[in-house]
Amino acid sequence: MALRPADGAGIAAAADRLRSGGLVAFPTETVYGLGADATDDRAVARIFAAKGRPRFNPLIVHAPDLAAHRAWAVFDERALRLAEAFWPGALTLVLPRTPDAPVSRLVSAGLDSVAVRAPDHPVAQALMRAAGCPVAAPSANRFGRLSPTEARHVAASLGGAVEIVLDGGPCSGGLESTVLSLTGETPVLLRPGLVTHESIEEIIGPVQTAGAGSAVDAPPEAPLESPGMLAAHYAPRARLRLGAGDALEEGEALLAFGDAPVAGPAGTAGYAAVRNLSPAGDLTEAAANLFRMLHELDALAPAAIAVSAIPEDGLGAAINDRLRRAAHRA
Ligand code: AMP
Ligand code: MG
Repeated sequence: MALRPADGAGIAAAADRLRSGGLVAFPTETVYGLGADATDDRAVARIFAAKGRPRFNPLIVHAPDLAAHRAWAVFDERALRLAEAFWPGALTLVLPRTPDAPVSRLVSAGLDSVAVRAPDHPVAQALMRAAGCPVAAPSANRFGRLSPTEARHVAASLGGAVEIVLDGGPCSGGLESTVLSLTGETPVLLRPGLVTHESIEEIIGPVQTAGAGSAVDAPPEAPLESPGMLAAHYAPRARLRLGAGDALEEGEALLAFGDAPVAGPAGTAGYAAVRNLSPAGDLTEAAANLFRMLHELDALAPAAIAVSAIPEDGLGAAINDRLRRAAHRA
């Protein structure tokens, strides 16, 4: 880990690391973010590994302005008015993904929405413009710890996992961004933050409130998802059969892991399709591929998707959590 001043050379080096798939911590007006190239599945998977998050929460995608965000998020009239009023600033909008959004599906945790924000901080702005890619970034702390408002907090919490920490001094906001979902007819406040409920209602009218949020990541014993998140929970159309052994049933597609040999059903042409999350058995690679491959297999409308057993260690716990919840859908 290198703690670097956020001057021209530091920003150029950090942008370079982002473009080559690395993790970089940087200041915003809310808290320090742990950033990765949002278009790079593997880089985004590293964020989850570094934070030690036991689940895949969707991440906020950062870009300099509205024009950039329109490449991956669909802005309706309300979203345009809010972006105009509050960007750059501490308001995150959850919007539908564009049909061919170039941002990783892991960023959206498999949902058809994407959370977007244009931060109002000169270092964040300079970094994003130099990198030329959208930057996925949750708060730069390990899961369950306080959000970092100084570079030394990041170094203490994530030191080994991040390549460069840009030191831009203490964050002025110190509180996270407000998260507002505009994926339905009624706007829903998913997380209170620096931009107030009232100031949003002044622009777009009534806003509903979902579960309480806080500047600390949810502890492991917290309910699985806040009420606002439940409806948006990703579920494939196909039935999921977890822990599939070495034989498949008719019409099943296979989501494999590792190099275990799997046979198609006897007397048929085999399974509908196969994707392998990681032939080498690498859990970071598997996380990077998880949502994209699930979407690809689901699009083929198989009788079911059989999923090979995945170990529970490291990112495996988050992968299995997501698969179990996708499988439990009625
Ligand atoms: P953090 O990255 O720690 O600042 O947290 C990001 C917040 O935005 C979390 O509360 C997420 O649940 C929320 N969020 C991000 N993307 C989405 C999305 N697509 N749908 C709903 N909530 C989202
Ligand atoms: Mg956080």
